[in-house]
Amino acid sequence: MRMTRYFLPVLREIPSEAQITSHKLMLRAGMIKQAVSGIYSWMPLGLRVLQKIERIVIEEQERAGHIPLLMPTIQPASLWQKSGRYDDYGEEMLRIRDRHNRDLLYGPTNEELITEIFSSHVKSYRDLPLTLFHIQWKFRDEMRPRFGVMRGREFLMKDGYNFDIDMDAAIHSYNRHMVSYLKTYERLGLKAIPMRADTGPIGGKYSHEFLVLADTGESEVFFDKRILNYNFGISELNFDDIDECQSIVDKWTIPYARTDETHDQETFDREVSQEHQGISRAIEVGQIFYFGTKYSEPMGALVTNSEGMHVPVHMGSHGIGVSRLVGAIIEAYHDEKGIKWPIVVAPYKVGIINAVMGDKESCEVSERIYNELNNANLEPIYDDRDERAGSKFNTMELIGIPWRITVGPRGLKKGVVELTNRYNGDRVEVPTGNIVNTMNKMGDCILD
Ligand code: ATP
Ligand code: MG
Repeated sequence: MRMTRYFLPVLREIPSEAQITSHKLMLRAGMIKQAVSGIYSWMPLGLRVLQKIERIVIEEQERAGHIPLLMPTIQPASLWQKSGRYDDYGEEMLRIRDRHNRDLLYGPTNEELITEIFSSHVKSYRDLPLTLFHIQWKFRDEMRPRFGVMRGREFLMKDGYNFDIDMDAAIHSYNRHMVSYLKTYERLGLKAIPMRADTGPIGGKYSHEFLVLADTGESEVFFDKRILNYNFGISELNFDDIDECQSIVDKWTIPYARTDETHDQETFDREVSQEHQGISRAIEVGQIFYFGTKYSEPMGALVTNSEGMHVPVHMGSHGIGVSRLVGAIIEAYHDEKGIKWPIVVAPYKVGIINAVMGDKESCEVSERIYNELNNANLEPIYDDRDERAGSKFNTMELIGIPWRITVGPRGLKKGVVELTNRYNGDRVEVPTGNIVNTMNKMGDCILD
């Protein structure tokens, strides 16, 4: 992308309405624009990050054997009356009436709709297990929308739903989700800790939330600090292997880790010695539930089992806050100059700065490098604007591009450009010859 042709509405001033770093940086970097309280437009740069996160979430769900579909944002109230949640959900639900006086709602979650889809088509245990998921906008009329995309009213969520023949099978689905979530967060560069949670309006018996420690988080959490040394680190695993999934879940859930809603000081003191007790603020980036037949019974989602009896399916649901993750990643990756994107979600991987726009050779070399990187899929963003070099550096740092190539007459005299790493500020001079090769030689981990 060339900056002269892009739409990157960066702000010079720190917006006064933003209280936390990620919100400030998202506004300053021109990633989002508020439409009305808790509802945002995603500007081109923000959209690229959002889509990269989405892609990783989808890949990991598919790897675990879960099937994507897409349900609508608007749902009929009648389904929620059937499950009994229409009245329970309260003011958070946006209720709408169409021209025919039919009651509709903007979905805050999708248990009812998916249960109806399932029960219309699946009748036998032979078609189980089944997990369906989608990534779709949700609306919750939050009492206090704040912190930008962290607590929006309209927000993007991955939500998945498993259907199993009995509790044992559903617990395996629960475990499989926990494992796939741990893997997803790790790929995104986040350390998310599963914590025992309350089930809230979703209901059910088992639930874990995934929390990323951050001073600005809205949850208070209590945990055994040794869990911070855990790394998921498993690339190959068999999601159908019940024991393998169970052992990963055991490893991650045995240490004490709870949110304030389930925290019990006595148990904490008994299980975790003082020196290992951790208390922190944290951001909830996902939650998984097992709720048995809570929806399948009232909504008639029955299948025949192997003995020919009609039984309600056992279900669970699972959510990842895709748009909230953008903010959570920034909270974990920034400095006083701006964002420092992990390469996997960076909107562009390499920024090219042409330091002296009037210099013919600088222009030619910048153009050539830009084309080479584009062809090699290294997603360059080229600052070809007629601006001071200093201001270009500031923009590139603010928007968090992991690598920067600076092209200027001084370097070109020696046949080099400067390559700078946004994480640690390391700089090296590299020959203008074959930049793609040079970057590839620096290791796969750097570029993907
Ligand atoms: P919270 O406790 O933060 O209100 P929740 O427990 O009601 O969230 P879930 O139903 O578990 O939310 O939704 C799954 C995920 O969606 C959450 O873990 C969170 O990451 C994200 N999420 C929920 N509400 C919002 C919101 N208002 N804005 C942005 N993301 C949200
Ligand atoms: Mg939750």
